[in-house]
Amino acid sequence: MLDLILRHCTLPDGQSDQDIGILGGRIVAVQPALSTPAAQEINVAGQLVSPPFVDAHFHMDSTLSYGQPRINQSGTLLEGIALWGELKPTLTQDALVDRAMAYCDWAVAKGLLAIRSHVDVCDPKLLAVEALLHVRERVKPYLDLQLVAFPQDGVLRGHNALVQLKRALDMGVDVVGGIPHFERTMQDGAESVRILCELAAERGLRVDMHCDETDDPMSRHIETLAYHAQRLGMQGRVAGSHLTSMHSMDNYYVSKLLPLIKEAGVAAIANPLINITLQGRHDTYPKRRGMTRVPELLAQGIDVAFGHDCVMDPWYGMGSGDMLEVAHMGLHVAQMTSQAAMRQCFAAVTTTPAKILGLTGYGLDVGCNADLLVLQARNPVEAIRLRATRLHVIRQGRIVAQTPPSVAALTLPGRPGSVDFLC
Ligand SMILES: [Zn+2]
Repeated sequence: MLDLILRHCTLPDGQSDQDIGILGGRIVAVQPALSTPAAQEINVAGQLVSPPFVDAHFHMDSTLSYGQPRINQSGTLLEGIALWGELKPTLTQDALVDRAMAYCDWAVAKGLLAIRSHVDVCDPKLLAVEALLHVRERVKPYLDLQLVAFPQDGVLRGHNALVQLKRALDMGVDVVGGIPHFERTMQDGAESVRILCELAAERGLRVDMHCDETDDPMSRHIETLAYHAQRLGMQGRVAGSHLTSMHSMDNYYVSKLLPLIKEAGVAAIANPLINITLQGRHDTYPKRRGMTRVPELLAQGIDVAFGHDCVMDPWYGMGSGDMLEVAHMGLHVAQMTSQAAMRQCFAAVTTTPAKILGLTGYGLDVGCNADLLVLQARNPVEAIRLRATRLHVIRQGRIVAQTPPSVAALTLPGRPGSVDFLC
């Protein structure tokens, strides 16, 4: 007797009419016409069943703080950092926990069940670290939260930041972060990358740096990150987040750079919603888009994920935890309009970030965790087009969120009926 069967599922790879059997929180069968009895059955009726969304880049310590203490007037990254600096001294642990827990509720409702969040380690009291470690435990039954020790003020530029960062790792933060382009000089930026990669290598941790989040084509810290990842044998455990300067780099230099990133096994994490709003702010016209070179990175065989980065915080006043909105924006900004490229955009918010985070048991194979979404769409492209309704969100075989199908009733004269926008 199974716990649950999802019947007549369409899978992201195009297989149709598959039944998914679930027992003890795991997938135990994926096949047509499963005959084993089950305590509960859901007829998915040809809708898309996917593993859950994964956000490879987020800031849960600042989320839902929009307007505190004031709104970012220039819309720039630098005013956002300054604003966060104003907000930090007023933060309380309770407020941090409440906002993070509220965001995790939003995330689950949207089928987002794994998040890598950076947490600022530059506050000497490490309030945000304590708060998010607490949240990580509280949400564990329904959401995997991975934390990155992020020295927002620069690990060399910020006062005592390296000591603080090590303390955060000692407290149980999972990943080593950095922000080389925010250090005082290019040399300090490169030195910060070396220090942080060596620290991660010593401790056997992953690395995820905010890297070259600037329109300056000479910001080339990704080259240094790839160099140390390769030198230290950290292939598959290092990610460069943002990499927006690559948008503005010289093509010849990029043709040398991409194979080095590939050789080093470094993944790229673009943040389309934030990159398209924060970058190019010093430009007149034409205005650069500022997102990294996603199709070119993918063509080189480099893993590329899309992150949400911000929701309602000093940097971004929009967002709802919807990774399909992220994929939708990424698709547009990168002009990834072929069928294959649109499917890569879906992978950039599901399987690729799962790989970058090192999630175990992720996927639709027999033996994987029964973490699943039933989406109101027939395939991944339609899911992105419609930002499809998450009909059922399933965690370890248990339904944790449901949303009614999106259907509009028409009352037009001579055209009564309903519209669901499915093709
Ligand atoms: Zn970020």
